[in-house]
Amino acid sequence: AELARLTDIHKTYLQGAVAVDALRGIDLTIAPGEMLAICGPSGSGKSTLLNIIGLLDEPTEGSMVLGGQRVMDLTRNARADLRRAALGFIFQSFNLVPVLSALENVLLPLRLRGKLAHGDKARAQQLLSRVGLSAHMGARPDRMSGGQRQRVAIARALIGQPQLVVADEPTANLDSANSMLVMDLLASLRRELGTTFVFSTHDNRILGHMTRIVHLRDGRIAVEDR
Ligand code: ADP
Ligand code: ADP
Repeated sequence: AELARLTDIHKTYLQGAVAVDALRGIDLTIAPGEMLAICGPSGSGKSTLLNIIGLLDEPTEGSMVLGGQRVMDLTRNARADLRRAALGFIFQSFNLVPVLSALENVLLPLRLRGKLAHGDKARAQQLLSRVGLSAHMGARPDRMSGGQRQRVAIARALIGQPQLVVADEPTANLDSANSMLVMDLLASLRRELGTTFVFSTHDNRILGHMTRIVHLRDGRIAVEDR
């Protein structure tokens, strides 16, 4: 079984007149239920690869299948629909709306899709309790600690019941204690919900939580560990 398959993915950026080959032939299969880390030094292509897996950016060359659909064959709208239906996102800087309550932040992806359905609010409250924030549902993120903010972002990433969550350096702005708390939580949620996670990271402390590690170097996969 596979959730995603990337074949010979290349990405070239133009920086003025200079072409930068950020990815140079990535072959990668992601199985359901994996907790996969993409590691590598700054500039090795981690964010670019995550953006492509998350349907936030398109490769220059190569093909990708996600949830049985050939992404390159989809229209822009169909790709956006697939992104909303199948994917969740966690960012290093949390990317919450500072003036909305934790609960409203979690509900936001659903509100952006249309009217809330019966039970959505209860599900958001359940998720916030699950991430340890039952006492903070009405609080604004700008009054919360980094660890609390990232846990709101985790609940927001999961509210749409995504198959795959893409997490770009999720512990980069957290101290060690909060990094471990967030990773323990993500690992438990993966077991409970069966969600697949792909991380980019250069934080070696969180690698013990992964089921697989891929090392990027200059836009290529250098080593794979299990
Ligand atoms: P990271 O190393 O964590 O990916 P960066 O600071 O390199 O963070 O990049 C932050 C964002 O800026 C990313 O979305 C990346 O795609 C974009 N970016 C990186 N380098 C450039 C560049 N030379 N020109 C424009 N955007 C860039
Ligand atoms: P990492 O996440 O491992 O730091 P990135 O994917 O951000 O690596 O960047 C890989 C390479 O692509 C770097 O040389 C970076 O400067 C370049 N790059 C990333 N995003 C952009 C962009 N939007 N425009 C131009 N160059 C970019």
